[in-house]
Amino acid sequence: MASDAVLWFGDQMSAVPLRNNKAAASTVRSVTVLGATGSIGDSTMDLLRGARDRYRVEALTANSNVEGLAKLAREFGARFAAIADPARLSELKEALAGTRIECGAGESAIIEAAARPADWVMAAVSGAAGLKPALAAVDRGASVALANKECLVCAGDFFMERAKKAGACILPADSEHNALFQALGSGNREELVRVIITASGGPFRTWAPADIEQATLEQALKHPNWSMGQKITIDSASMMNKGLEVIEASYLFALTPDEIDVLVHPQSIIHGMVEFSDRSVMAQLGTPDMRIPIAHCLGWPDRIVGPSARLDLAKIGQLTFEVPDFARFPGLRLAYEALRTGKGATTVFNAANEVAVAAFIAGKIKFGAIARLVEATMNDWIRTGNRAPLQSADDAISVDHVARNRAAALLPQIALKAT
Ligand code: NDP
Repeated sequence: MASDAVLWFGDQMSAVPLRNNKAAASTVRSVTVLGATGSIGDSTMDLLRGARDRYRVEALTANSNVEGLAKLAREFGARFAAIADPARLSELKEALAGTRIECGAGESAIIEAAARPADWVMAAVSGAAGLKPALAAVDRGASVALANKECLVCAGDFFMERAKKAGACILPADSEHNALFQALGSGNREELVRVIITASGGPFRTWAPADIEQATLEQALKHPNWSMGQKITIDSASMMNKGLEVIEASYLFALTPDEIDVLVHPQSIIHGMVEFSDRSVMAQLGTPDMRIPIAHCLGWPDRIVGPSARLDLAKIGQLTFEVPDFARFPGLRLAYEALRTGKGATTVFNAANEVAVAAFIAGKIKFGAIARLVEATMNDWIRTGNRAPLQSADDAISVDHVARNRAAALLPQIALKAT
């Protein structure tokens, strides 16, 4: 690969690094895991467990799982452990008694964990709550493996810009974006035609609209390929997750909505592809295991030895592809609309979806009403005409709050509305 073949990352998006910016990999690197007790956190800790001679844990965080956090902090000899729920501080202190691990509680402690001097930070808090901690890591110029897509969806207007200014290096940890990150280096910006994000299609891929409308929580949580946290699994079933990923890709790689396509690929073996002007299409493949993209981020710019199963294409036999159905999965259409609208619309899309998913989990709305609530909230927000580019985390959080309140207010009528 010619060195200037990857320069468009450097020119346009210096926060996403150049492949040939090789750093010395011989020293022990310090790492912090935000959201250590979650699904991504678990995969990250598993990789760290297998490479103890290369990494030292600076800080670990969780929301309310004191037991899981303390266990990990003890196992890895972390220097700092933070729990978001302030009421759990004494419990955490007790669980860490007899160690030299410092601890803290509340949002400020999670931000402190991110701000501590670790070379590499995994940003895997779920939801919009992950924004401020991720920014704290970005602002001190760390290498940030970004799993939390909400950072970009809610605050993409300024998140990448801030990373660029601080000299932070954003490593895409989401499997599709990590695939694009690996494939994009094969050409330059002018040669790029489009990127293709694949989607498994989720558990309702072949379902009729009436059945999708009535789907239960149990059915929504049965993802065919990936083992993930509850929220993202429901988002995969509605394809809202793919919508979030389209928005994420746009901000991460400075792409227009027309340059991002979604392709349903039920086997989840190809995670992302990039088409160049000569009609070459570069793809990244791997078994559906989040430890593969996380290992790529953890080792970057080198590659570490990963524990995941090797890909056996002969055993898989067939890779199939379908065009996504925007009618049965309106979340995907709404994501493109939000991206085209801009100026906070993607923040509204995400906030309304979080409210809708929580309402679905609580049994307050049907599965089919998730997208209806998101659409109603977006339309309501567009009608008010209060749109401006987001300049700061506070701007994003304020739009997020307004959208959540509007979604909560619209919830009863959406819940009652017959399809
Ligand atoms: P989980 O729900 O499994 O874990 C979330 C983690 O964040 C937990 O450690 C949780 O702590 C912590 N947390 C939750 N709320 C807060 C809060 N308010 N403040 C501080 N910490 C909090 O989520 P996932 O690991 O599945 O996902 C994490 C992020 O990564 C999401 O943005 C998701 O979209 C993204 N992602 C996930 C993928 C996956 O395969 N799971 C794939 C690609 C992206 P506690 O355990 O105490 O609740």
